Amino acid sequence: MISPKQAVLDLDEYCVPQDQSLVKLNQNESSYDVPAALKQDILNRLNEWKWNRYPPLKADSLVRAISAYTDYPASGIVVGNGSNEMIQAVLAAFCGPGDKVLLVSPGFSIYPRVAHIMGLERIDVPLADDFAFDTPRIIEKSEEARMIMIASPNNPTGTAFNLDDIEEIAETFHGIFVIDEAYFEFHKVTAQTCISRYQNIILLRTLSKAFSLAGLRLGYVLAAPEMARAMDKTKLPFSVGIFQQIAGEVLLNNHGVITQVADMIIKEREKVFSQLSRMESIRPIPSSTNFILFEVKDGSAKGVFDACYHQGVLLRYFGGKHLKDFLRVTIGTPEENEIFVTTLKEVVN
Ligand code: PMP
Repeated sequence: MISPKQAVLDLDEYCVPQDQSLVKLNQNESSYDVPAALKQDILNRLNEWKWNRYPPLKADSLVRAISAYTDYPASGIVVGNGSNEMIQAVLAAFCGPGDKVLLVSPGFSIYPRVAHIMGLERIDVPLADDFAFDTPRIIEKSEEARMIMIASPNNPTGTAFNLDDIEEIAETFHGIFVIDEAYFEFHKVTAQTCISRYQNIILLRTLSKAFSLAGLRLGYVLAAPEMARAMDKTKLPFSVGIFQQIAGEVLLNNHGVITQVADMIIKEREKVFSQLSRMESIRPIPSSTNFILFEVKDGSAKGVFDACYHQGVLLRYFGGKHLKDFLRVTIGTPEENEIFVTTLKEVVN
């Protein structure tokens, strides 16, 4: 049998528990499903479409809705099958074998996976104490990099760049600077205005988090029009089907509802943060997202993860050099958060 290429053999399978009978707080999804009236509207529209025809190639209607929501010109917007597709597309459009990509650690695990499969080399810059971005180090190490790819706010730490740091990096870096704003709706700060000054900045966004559409797969890019065109040429045509196009458009046109829910999640995040702060054996990291990373100070993070799991609460344990003493919890509904905090208290006591 012919074996896959070595880069693929090197990888572990991507796996994550998806048991929905548990209090599921392990994937930074929204605990709030799309409101029933909007679902019905989406389904009605879907019913009117011909399913035997390919979807609109450039997703024009959806792109117009994104443009209105972001106040960004349509010529700089490209949509993809989740922002994961756009991560792959941006690497494929701008990097070739042997090129170096600067990533921070701990960071989003998909970047090094895709980079490795494409034969790219990784420049690793660890985050500073308490998981802040180490901007001077990023600038220093970026000299040899073709691309910098960083999530801000970062997953799994929840920490974010400030715009001054982004500008400082963009000022000196001449490669492609990708900033993944998957958690924008919970942070409310964007590097969008930097794009006109620094044409090498590319932003990634997703509708999987605040917009409750993780199950549909929809993400988009904001970039200078030339960059957007390059990504559009690189990604697979028709990767965003009519279901995603219609649902995305309807939700974006009703983004007021989404913002309200996001604001509620932000309040809940602050409540959970202060509850965790009051627990002696727990140290939460301040977050600008819909999740919180926290340290289990006595070194029993994996044991705490297992014990919570057995009590029906699903958290995320990563392990590894940086995160062996940490767990990540997604902020859910007030009821879910209450169950999480109560369970964690019982387990650590
Ligand atoms: N970027 C970051 C930083 C994420 O945390 C995630 C989801 N965990 C993604 C991208 C992927 O999002 P999507 O569902 O749109 O592929």
